[in-house]
Amino acid sequence: MTTDRGGDVRLSGISKTYGSFTAVHPLDLTVPQGSFFALLGASGCGKTTTLRMIAGLEEPTAGTVSLGGRDVTALPPYKRPVNTVFQSYALFPHLDVFENVAFGLRRRGIKSVKKQVGEMLDLVQLGEQARRKPHQLSGGQQQRVAVARALINHPEVLLLDEPLGALDLKLRRQMQLELKRIQTEVGITFVHVTHDQEEAMTMADTVAVMNAGRVEQLGAPADLYENPRTTFVANFLGTSNLIEAKVETASGDDLVVEAAGQRLTLPAARCAAPAAAGGAVLLGVRPEKISLTPADDADRVPAGRNRVTGRITAGSFLGVSTQYVVDCPACPEFEVYVQNIDRDPRLVPGAEVVLHWDPAHSFGLDAAQDID
Ligand code: ATP
Repeated sequence: MTTDRGGDVRLSGISKTYGSFTAVHPLDLTVPQGSFFALLGASGCGKTTTLRMIAGLEEPTAGTVSLGGRDVTALPPYKRPVNTVFQSYALFPHLDVFENVAFGLRRRGIKSVKKQVGEMLDLVQLGEQARRKPHQLSGGQQQRVAVARALINHPEVLLLDEPLGALDLKLRRQMQLELKRIQTEVGITFVHVTHDQEEAMTMADTVAVMNAGRVEQLGAPADLYENPRTTFVANFLGTSNLIEAKVETASGDDLVVEAAGQRLTLPAARCAAPAAAGGAVLLGVRPEKISLTPADDADRVPAGRNRVTGRITAGSFLGVSTQYVVDCPACPEFEVYVQNIDRDPRLVPGAEVVLHWDPAHSFGLDAAQDID
């Protein structure tokens, strides 16, 4: 089943101020047609305000919103080809599932709704629950009714404002996959607001990471994770180990940097800001990219890897992996995940270790100031 497609959602110089407070700084953003797009950020960063400006529920202070090439900035919500699903599903308690979904069609005076509602209930896998009232449904089922009710109007864009926020963790995970499946099936644009980085990464094709009213970085989930451009993004999406380093040489494809007397290699192409010899840089590496070798076996570490030494201060068994904290001169709380299948039994708190990784997995961030 497919729904009519619209075009791109384009925000041009859009901003929102409340008195002297700027909730959203001038923002240019294009959401490609048919994509699953997430606005991700901590509470208060302006993501809901941005979504509400697309919906027409909030008037921008400046800038324009266009949908499929049409400027809709001046249109009220009901005249825009968008629909919104909120965290509080806002279902009609006295109507059953079928009538909740049929509501939009009946309001438009459409009499024969059975086929369309049936298709929509099949899409969200609620065909069996058609005659139940909302209070007889689980939270996840209620959320799917809300999605079906929004999709039955064939919007070009579906806006979702923390739609899974009220669900417990297990149900959230199920619904993330479910929403992704529905989006792939109907093929329309979904714009999803969330503060949960894992949720954004699981569902979205493109994620805009927002911070204090600005988009800090935009990209595919894997790209944001592998190539964060700012410390905020590096820390908001997963864990990063950040080492303050001084650039020794900056010619060629690789930088050679020094941190606490240890020399490390950083690919120039993976640096967010140009780095010059003598300047400072933050070298980042993700915890799962690092291997741990007991110091006694240091000579077995393959050549060409970045290596620092340290002492394990904590180890937490997580089932598939063990999470270690290692105190290193270059970084006092280095976090490392080691797959348990490969784990050396000597890796226990107190052990002296070598941490090593492929230099290609290092990324460089602007350190803001020189280290001397
Ligand atoms: P949350 O996840 O908590 O909903 P958010 O990222 O969606 O956060 P917004 O709801 O967009 O954040 O709010 C952005 C900022 O604008 C917040 O600091 C909020 O307090 C402020 N704000 C939102 N609406 C108003 C309003 N009507 N008047 C004044 N300030 C507002």
